Amino acid sequence: MRPFAYERARDPEGAASSGSEASAKFIAGGTNLLDLMKLQIERPERLVDVSRLPLSRIEANGDGARIGAMVTNADLAADRMICERYPVLSMALLSGASPQIRNKATTGGNLLQRTRCYYFYDTARPCNKREPGTGCAALGGFNRIHAILGASDECIATHPSDMAVAMTLLDAELEITGPDGSTRTLPVDDLYRLPDDRPDREVNLAAGELITNVVLPAPPPGRQIYRKVRDRASYAFALVSVAVAMDVEDGKIRSARVALGGVAPKPWRARAAEAVLDGSAADERTFRAAARAELEGAKGHGHDDFKIPLAERVMTSVFADAAKGAR
Ligand code: SF4
Repeated sequence: MRPFAYERARDPEGAASSGSEASAKFIAGGTNLLDLMKLQIERPERLVDVSRLPLSRIEANGDGARIGAMVTNADLAADRMICERYPVLSMALLSGASPQIRNKATTGGNLLQRTRCYYFYDTARPCNKREPGTGCAALGGFNRIHAILGASDECIATHPSDMAVAMTLLDAELEITGPDGSTRTLPVDDLYRLPDDRPDREVNLAAGELITNVVLPAPPPGRQIYRKVRDRASYAFALVSVAVAMDVEDGKIRSARVALGGVAPKPWRARAAEAVLDGSAADERTFRAAARAELEGAKGHGHDDFKIPLAERVMTSVFADAAKGAR
């Protein structure tokens, strides 16, 4: 580990100001950043500790909810309002990491965690995300956990968060404080960038911008489900995950939202599937057509080819279960 300066932030504005220095990084739970520092993939000269900021409240916000960025994943998953109104979020959180990590990991940090591509963590191998212009070892390497949607010739890594998939489904908005004390809001879907030719640029945040809260609008109607398929039942990242909110009446889908995890460089809002589902008969034929529509442009890279039929089957199954449980 390299030496670094440590600063405990007193308020969001001061944190954002300190965090805007080129060599500074925010730290909260540290469940990803410390690993990256030990491997010298992240080499901050200053850590701005935001974990003591007064951003640990979960509160009703009109018909929705407001979640502080320092709320831990464990507290958010167990919160009664979240369990009752946004069960998809609680399910997604509980499917991620381990209880020990969920006790430390925060809402803001979870949104900003880095990919788990093996080669990103292996400093002996080329990686355009870690060192732009060096190449991508995953393209010709072992790419079983990699992306089938939204990837580029420069990077095929997936985003690892389960929570962010549920947040994307729920149309969450982020409250952000900048280094000059100004604030802005950003839809969570707009936080993430696709890799294109700059996979090192992952999020649409300027230097020093700090996520302070996540605002959830009113819950979508109908039943919510989060299903995650992975190599083992605990402490594993998604190969494919599906978040769904579906409202069905008299055999017809009144509204549907779908988001996918484990298949793309960002939490993937499945708009093509939603377009097929909305207003259609809630039957097997619709469900399969919706899944196929979303996967029309999907592309495997060898070892991850299996994700395309897997994603189709998981989506079809989750759509059917959501429709069965809807009023
Ligand atoms: Fe690096 Fe992305 Fe290639 Fe993985 S997939 S080696 S993160 S460039």
